[in-house]
Amino acid sequence: MTGRPRPAIAALPAYRPGRSAAVVEAELGVSGALKLASNEAPFGPLASVAGAISAGIESVNLYPDHGAVALRHDLATHVGVDVERVTVGAGSAGILQQILLAFCEPGDEVAMCWPSFEAYPIFAMLVEAEQVRVPLRDETFDLPALAESVGPRTRVAFVTNPNNPTGTVVGTDEIRAFLDAVPDSCLVVLDEAYSEFVTDPRVTDSSALVAEHDNLVVTRTFSKAHGLAALRVGYAVGHPDVVAMIDRTSVPFAVNDLAQRAARASLAAADEMRERVAQVVAERDRVTGELRAAGWDVPDAQANFVWMPVRERAGELAGALERRGVVTRAFADAGIRVTIADRAGDDRFLSALADAVADGGDDRGDRG
Ligand code: PMP
Repeated sequence: MTGRPRPAIAALPAYRPGRSAAVVEAELGVSGALKLASNEAPFGPLASVAGAISAGIESVNLYPDHGAVALRHDLATHVGVDVERVTVGAGSAGILQQILLAFCEPGDEVAMCWPSFEAYPIFAMLVEAEQVRVPLRDETFDLPALAESVGPRTRVAFVTNPNNPTGTVVGTDEIRAFLDAVPDSCLVVLDEAYSEFVTDPRVTDSSALVAEHDNLVVTRTFSKAHGLAALRVGYAVGHPDVVAMIDRTSVPFAVNDLAQRAARASLAAADEMRERVAQVVAERDRVTGELRAAGWDVPDAQANFVWMPVRERAGELAGALERRGVVTRAFADAGIRVTIADRAGDDRFLSALADAVADGGDDRGDRG
């Protein structure tokens, strides 16, 4: 070993992104594979966003605005809070990592329901915090059980709404009850990476909760609904003191200039963005209906993906789909997660699934 890495880092598992179409094509000798494995938007940039990015190319020799002041102001207006309550980072993943760096020491606890976003355990290990994993209930965050798991050493509790990979939501009233149940010494991170896709009326704007609870921080991203995953920009809304601590852990110039420009342009194109989200939501609901009509037991999908809780058949089903050119995300012994694409892409997934079943490539049993 060169140098002396911290033991916690040497033991750290790498984050595993969704398999790319190119990797699957090379591995399985298929062509024209469709990647539905990373919850990406099926669209290219809006014209106005592409224009803003192009306009920024002339100044890539200059550092971006470290404080992303203009973007923070736009976000504060968008969310309806004072600008001191907003920060930005390199994707919401960047902000989540910053939060744990700012709030956790070795031996502290980080609570989460599981399965959930696979970066949380990695960030917890990075700061040598202990993970407390509470099982989902009916594929959904079990907030009463999560509240029970919070103790005096719990510095951060994640609430992922909608949850990744299951796509389910908890109602805002349940989150309020959770916040009332946990001590102020625990920062509650409400991860709303997919909030723009939620149509369940039990979920309302979380900004009201931020005003009520100083220990709540909400994280969101431009990667999903805004379709800017490649640019890496996310934001957080919380108490000014929490925001200030998150900011202390920022890498200088974390959000690049093209990302800042694109994010501002995307916020300014709210109507077009909503229209795109509506298309994805309509497709999501269509795919959910088709899966249920075919006998699959899938939970209500509230993000830009569907979840098939096929348990121990996850790897086998994902493999059968890959051999048919459709790349999904398998979670061992839990299920597969399939990103919603456009109509043609979703139809490819549905017919690959039907084909896999017909071929016995997936010995599906009760389709649970
Ligand atoms: N939170 C959740 C629940 C996610 O699924 C993701 C992306 N897969 C992120 C955060 C991070 O997204 P980004 O860093 O692109 O904002």
